[in-house]
Amino acid sequence: MPIATLDQLSRPVRDLRLSVTDRCNFRCPYCMPRSKFGADHAFSPRAELLTYEELARLVGIFAGLGVTKVRLTGGEPLLRRDLETLIAMIAATPGIDDVALTTNGSLLADRAATLRAAGLRRITVSLDSVDPQMFAAMTDSPIALDTVLGGIAAAQAAGLTPVKVNAVVQRGVNEAGLLDLAEFARQQGLVLRFIEYMDVGTTNEWQSGAVVPAAEIIERIAAVHPLEPIAATIRGEVARRWRYTDGGGEIGVIASVTQPFCTDCTRARVTATGELFTCLFAARGRDLRGLLRAGASDAELVDLIVGVWHARTDRYSEQRSADHQSGRRAEMSYLGG
Ligand code: SAM
Ligand code: SF4
Ligand code: SF4
Repeated sequence: MPIATLDQLSRPVRDLRLSVTDRCNFRCPYCMPRSKFGADHAFSPRAELLTYEELARLVGIFAGLGVTKVRLTGGEPLLRRDLETLIAMIAATPGIDDVALTTNGSLLADRAATLRAAGLRRITVSLDSVDPQMFAAMTDSPIALDTVLGGIAAAQAAGLTPVKVNAVVQRGVNEAGLLDLAEFARQQGLVLRFIEYMDVGTTNEWQSGAVVPAAEIIERIAAVHPLEPIAATIRGEVARRWRYTDGGGEIGVIASVTQPFCTDCTRARVTATGELFTCLFAARGRDLRGLLRAGASDAELVDLIVGVWHARTDRYSEQRSADHQSGRRAEMSYLGG
């Protein structure tokens, strides 16, 4: 039985997000603006990235503390070579019943089947627009929209269904395409999740005026395709879900800004370089790599992780003031979104 590990707000640790790289082949301006992540940007050197053995060891330790779900993210996780090997190692970890991946979909078409065969259960593809020009602006990359659509189709064909699609909505940027995204998802049998634009990191120069509130997103979709709410089923479920009354599937909104869900936040994050974070908005994490590479025992690692989780008081989104709190914060591409 896992050791019950509760933080200061009585939240258990249930989900682990592992970032496997801080590199990406896209430059979404809200995440890795090219002006700050240019050709001279210093990404983490390879030797500093946790190896698959180190990552799998950590997964085993977290599973002993109650984690049942692992999501791989980045940066772009499919840039990390042979990710299937890591997936198989995680899927074989006792206590882990769900291995998921968040990807920009650009490298998915050729990999979906092998990822599934390795033990991947669920996939989320980030897609902020189905208009080729807007897609190009949202990703600031020469990779075409069709490449990502091909990746989504391959994931469906491989049985990673239902494929989820994440769309970050920005006022005056891609908001005009909300309905087109919803239509596309309905036609293709995808579960669409709209995400409120968040003030993660400091390089995107977030302004509260750029957030389109989830309530408004739902209102706009429901005006065309009526929706009814679906009750939350599990603690820590971050999306508020709705179903189309005509049977056209479901959509969700992740309202981190206007309806924060810190009370139920059961997520721990480990960066590609082995820093443990207990909140997306933290400035720094606790180094696990040093301990791992100094030959620490499992008991020593458990002590550190339990200590960090036990001391946890994070509820940034619930405390976010009307004036956006500034100051040093880790970037989303480093932390793993
Ligand atoms: N590269 C992969 C991808 O884009 O799916 C995985 C990493 S990415 C950091 C994970 C998720 O974070 C994506 O769905 C992305 O849209 C979201 N994201 C990044 N910056 C964000 C922001 N400022 N506000 C809301 N979501 C953001
Ligand atoms: Fe890359 Fe994902 Fe960030 Fe876009 S959101 S820049 S695809 S890590
Ligand atoms: Fe969890 Fe921090 Fe987000 Fe609140 S602000 S939901 S504690 S990651």
